[in-house]
Amino acid sequence: MVSHAPMTKNTRMRPLTIGQVQINNSFSNQNYFPYSVGLLQAYVEKHAPPDAFGFLLPLYKRLPVSQAVAHLESADVVAFSTYVWNIRISLEIARRLKAHNPAVCIVFGGPQVPDRPEAFLREHPFIDLACHGEGERAFLQLLEQRRHAASLEAVDWREVPSLTWRDGERLVTNPRAARLKTLDEIPSPYLEGVFEPLIAANPDETWLALWETNRGCPFSCTFCDWGSAVAAKVYPFDLTRLHGELDWFAAHRTEFIFCCDANFGILPRDIEIATYAAKLKAERGYPQALSVQNTKNATERAYEVQSILSRSGLNKGVTLSLQSVDPGTLEKIKRKNISSDSYRELQRRFTRDRVETYSDLILGLPGETYASFTEGVSAVIEQGQHNRIQFNNLTILPNAEMADPAYRAAHGLETVETKIINIHGTLVADDDEVHESQELVIATATLPRDDWRRARAFSWMTALLHFDKVLQIPLVLAHELGGLSYRELILQFTDGDLSEAPVLEGVRRFFIETAASIQAGGTEYVPAPQWLNIFWPADEHALIELVFENRLDAFYAEAERVLTRALASSATPLPPGALHDAITLNQALLKRPFETADCVIEVGYDLLAWHRAKVVGDEATLTPSPTRYHIDRTSERWTTWDDWCRQVIWYGNKKGAYLYGNCVTTREIAGHY
Ligand code: SF4
Repeated sequence: MVSHAPMTKNTRMRPLTIGQVQINNSFSNQNYFPYSVGLLQAYVEKHAPPDAFGFLLPLYKRLPVSQAVAHLESADVVAFSTYVWNIRISLEIARRLKAHNPAVCIVFGGPQVPDRPEAFLREHPFIDLACHGEGERAFLQLLEQRRHAASLEAVDWREVPSLTWRDGERLVTNPRAARLKTLDEIPSPYLEGVFEPLIAANPDETWLALWETNRGCPFSCTFCDWGSAVAAKVYPFDLTRLHGELDWFAAHRTEFIFCCDANFGILPRDIEIATYAAKLKAERGYPQALSVQNTKNATERAYEVQSILSRSGLNKGVTLSLQSVDPGTLEKIKRKNISSDSYRELQRRFTRDRVETYSDLILGLPGETYASFTEGVSAVIEQGQHNRIQFNNLTILPNAEMADPAYRAAHGLETVETKIINIHGTLVADDDEVHESQELVIATATLPRDDWRRARAFSWMTALLHFDKVLQIPLVLAHELGGLSYRELILQFTDGDLSEAPVLEGVRRFFIETAASIQAGGTEYVPAPQWLNIFWPADEHALIELVFENRLDAFYAEAERVLTRALASSATPLPPGALHDAITLNQALLKRPFETADCVIEVGYDLLAWHRAKVVGDEATLTPSPTRYHIDRTSERWTTWDDWCRQVIWYGNKKGAYLYGNCVTTREIAGHY
């Protein structure tokens, strides 16, 4: 990070030096432009007198606190844009900066500043100002107030909207500014060149873009700090500006854009925006990916937008953010007005179109029980989700309705503070950096601690067996032809009698113990110094260990006994030998390291074709048909554990590419030769 002196000159009044801090996580050594503080700077530079303020380069990624303080030490005002992933490091930078220079004005904004900030400000006395809600106008006004005062102590903050400030020992909260209705009052930091000095100072950086096409959300989910009465109305940015920004991304060869809109597709023009991004990608190669959160309820438009993104390759898959499918829970979290039918319809159409989807569910929502959660998972799979359900733990954000003490009490929310760890994030030594933490729900009135652990274990077991594809072929068979629900099937592995299945019992125990560790404040992912030195989801960790410890044969033998027992009570018995064949085939297809030869297996049915048809919603009948599969295990090989862990287990997470059939598989029907 290179510091540069403010470039303004003012003979009448000294220009103020402004520091800005918006620290985002790095992703594979790529970093986001600090968009929020870029907007603040662009707004100030447009509306303030020329040469009134000079901006230091913003801090945009995690760095040693001492380095950050050194970078900011010449600043008169330092603004921090905070959220759950950067609040602690922001606080520590601010604390040390204030100790170093008491004359600096420290401003905190962003969603992590509580709407009722008294306790927050008393706990952190080095913060001078807390800014609530939309920040652009308030920031300009506070800078002007500071500029016209001789010292920080002499500033009169009473006229600046949306601030909480210190009046001696007293904390005063000023009325909020109305939301900006014409967002183009805020110039684009991309188009105004705000980031050009940052790009020039960091020539080796690969930049990712944050982008807004509108602001606001008409919904008010209780776990979210976004939608609320104040933010309900959706205000758009001008379309010409958005096209200009997309052109800028293409010109700057920006590969990845994360669209921050709460509901992309909510406005009819979003189809045009998606079409323009697709055109740029086709013509100029950039942007390569545009990640959006789908709008809710507007099924037709959501479908059309996602189809454009996916046909162009801008989107590798569609996320369906269900969160829960239980009607009682949806009511308690105020998502009852978000149609479950819309999600089902989108799932059906995308499955038909061969567009990959991912479903999000949250574990531990108010009103959810062990039964409703497991039934919900089962229903989502039955509706066609065979690619991935992302099981997220519930966290409490300071400005979400869920954070309200009365709401917590009403739903019996029990929480624990845990370190924030990124999935597949690198293990770092404890004294290496400031750790961020989150408030995680680990039990509710309807999901007591014991049930939370069981539900967590059920999620991992579902991920391992179905979405990591360790047992997906037999599970689909047992559901489709044996008539058992996915819930009934997976429960055999989490709640069933495993006294004669020691390998399965070991996996179950590992999941329950990992869930218990989270409840005790442990990390959400399993640290594994031996496996790439990263944090793994428990299901992936279990799979690695099963393969490494050479327990797969026993695993499949036990799984066959467990499923046979479950199917014994089924009214519709499976075709003879089909379960054994499905297990044999699934086992043979699972990608493993150190393979040196292809594999040939013979079964009594063409199960692979049948399974492939079923998971994309096609009609298929399983009839006896002696089949020989020649499984190509050598075109794609992994000759170290590290390669296999990284390329198959880690990178396979989203692609679901755990089986050889996903790349090169030759199949030979017996009798054809
Ligand atoms: S979760 Fe999404 S839909 Fe719900 S309030 Fe937040 S942004 Fe809006």
